[in-house]
Amino acid sequence: MTADVKALEKKAVELRKRTFQLVYEGKTGHTGSDLSCADILTALYFQVLNVDAKNPENPNRDRYIQSKGHAVEILWTTLAAKGFIDEAELNTFSQFKSRLIGHPNNQVDGIEMNTGSLGHGLAVSTGIALAGKMDQKNYKTYTLMGDGELAEGSVWEAAMAAANYKLKNLTAIIDHNGLQISGKTVDVMNSEPLKEKWQAFGWHVIEVDGNNMAELLAAFDSDENGEKPKMIIANTIKGKGVSFAENQAGWHHKVPTDEQYQQAMAEFDQQLEALK
Ligand SMILES: [Mg+2]
Repeated sequence: MTADVKALEKKAVELRKRTFQLVYEGKTGHTGSDLSCADILTALYFQVLNVDAKNPENPNRDRYIQSKGHAVEILWTTLAAKGFIDEAELNTFSQFKSRLIGHPNNQVDGIEMNTGSLGHGLAVSTGIALAGKMDQKNYKTYTLMGDGELAEGSVWEAAMAAANYKLKNLTAIIDHNGLQISGKTVDVMNSEPLKEKWQAFGWHVIEVDGNNMAELLAAFDSDENGEKPKMIIANTIKGKGVSFAENQAGWHHKVPTDEQYQQAMAEFDQQLEALK
């Protein structure tokens, strides 16, 4: 797999910037969660996933389910950048009658499943991957979970099933930012040590800096999982890219003031300048 890492890093900043605008203009959004996983979505949509806006129902397409559905603003901007949503519709985010609501909505091309009720994405992805295996299809299935989401028991039922059925065609990613809506994940419901737990459940586990594009791409590209499902533990920073939002649980769901918006735009522009 050849990748232009720098171009992807630039794309991730562009998506962060557009997402921050979307939250500001829509007056709602899971801002910190969006920014946390921007590099993961960029790697997936601009390098890894075999998906095409011109043929969204292609039976051989890869499947991506964003189990952490609250971080939908980054998904809307990513799908728009991939041509699944046109820019004019993107501007309707959160408005009355818009399809672009505060959770992934499968009325929109490219959305496989309505999510946001946490703990369901991995189970459905496991079923899709099992169907692909039984039908001898070549598509792959990917799902992104939050670390706070791991408190849901259904995640661990799916973890067990995916290993049981040897679903090497399934890759899960944990956006491991250490925070959730009400504080630190280790304080709310400690799911550590993540690596050892997923290994014990029969998964091949790769741990990376989830805000490092090269590390993410290498993890997606790796085929060392044999017959096991692959887990990528992506260690991320919640609110990544906006200095005053980084590592702040309070930015889980927050809309910037005018002043904060201007500051964030300036910070994104500086990051884009540095990537020129
Ligand atoms: Mg989290």
